[in-house]
Amino acid sequence: PDGNRTTAPNFNPSLERADEAREQKNADRPSQVNKYMKLDQKGKLMAEYVWVDAAGETRSKSREYKPEDLPVWNFDGSSTDQAPGENSDVYLRPCAVYPDPFRGVPNIIVLAECWSADGVPIKSNFRHDCAKVMEAYADHEPWFGLEQEYTFLDHDDRPYGWPAGGFPAPQGPYYCGVGSGKVVLRDVVESHYKACLYAGINISGTNAEVMPGQWEFQVGPCEGIQMGDQLWIARFFLARVSEDFGVKVSWHPKPIRGDWNGAGLHSNFSTKEMRTEGGMKHIEDALKKLEPHHAECIKEYGEDNDQRLTGRHETGSIEQFNYGVANRGCSIRIPRETAAKGYGYFEDRRPASNADPYRVTKILMTSIFGKL
Ligand code: ADP
Ligand code: MN
Ligand code: MN
Ligand code: MN
Ligand code: MN
Repeated sequence: PDGNRTTAPNFNPSLERADEAREQKNADRPSQVNKYMKLDQKGKLMAEYVWVDAAGETRSKSREYKPEDLPVWNFDGSSTDQAPGENSDVYLRPCAVYPDPFRGVPNIIVLAECWSADGVPIKSNFRHDCAKVMEAYADHEPWFGLEQEYTFLDHDDRPYGWPAGGFPAPQGPYYCGVGSGKVVLRDVVESHYKACLYAGINISGTNAEVMPGQWEFQVGPCEGIQMGDQLWIARFFLARVSEDFGVKVSWHPKPIRGDWNGAGLHSNFSTKEMRTEGGMKHIEDALKKLEPHHAECIKEYGEDNDQRLTGRHETGSIEQFNYGVANRGCSIRIPRETAAKGYGYFEDRRPASNADPYRVTKILMTSIFGKL
């Protein structure tokens, strides 16, 4: 009965079939997950605590919670480079709550600040000081709108969809592109948009970017500390949705050297005074205040931004502060519509895609209105 096996020693039909079966199972994973997600939770509630780690990426873990008491929690900071091994507890203090788009009602996403055991905010907690500044200057009603650019990567850490060992055709057809061969992973982008809307994130748009594999979404306008909170949650959602689709996200401002656009976090800004009749004077005053703080701002605007701010590829030079109406080669762009109306907002084009929105929004405020 085993006679046919000996004639083909390198061919193992049972292993091959196992492989096929696994592939089929993988293809069926979404419906398998849904089977469990539909199960009754028996009155228990799940909270996914999200925090920002030392590298500026999101981390999360989940627990049961009671709605009347959202607890301070903790994690092992020595495993995230956020605390020494001998005193490793980092405390998670809840600061904002959102509906959970992955688990659905009644589960929640909890944005948390990181605090040490001694009751001080740890180094990577940029929210704490930002919130103080926003509180102090709340009367100006500061609005922010951030344009988050990012790049999808394949498992080989190359931009998703790029030919193996080569490059795609030069930039041109990809920005706001439509169709196969121009854009990739629109299903991920659309899923992320819906997840944000479900959670009440003030996401205001999305577009395919100049470099193939690169996309942008915008969050805003958001007032004060809300900007940093909502952008961090939107970043967490993108990482989480991309995980579902088996693709990676890079937040690096210059994923590919050479004649390929980098990725930024254009930061649109206005105060109550700038948004009303005669606002242009307040915009010009703010830009005069920002100029001498250029180097200080750049320090807050993300890592490796020198690779991006070259004065080419729609950027200003990292060495020099300048501004202009409708000019995308400047540090700051005043939108044409704002110049025409005489009031509105301005766009700081300097921040890199990997900048911390708490640091960006805080330095804008303190440069213009003064440190606390
Ligand atoms: P761009 O033309 O630079 O690509 P986008 O349309 O991508 O601009 O993004 C514009 C951003 O500006 C949006 O996030 C929007 O919420 C924000 N925005 C609009 N009006 C204001 C305002 N008055 N103050 C601050 N931000 C604003
Ligand atoms: Mn454990
Ligand atoms: Mn944009
Ligand atoms: Mn863009
Ligand atoms: Mn922009």
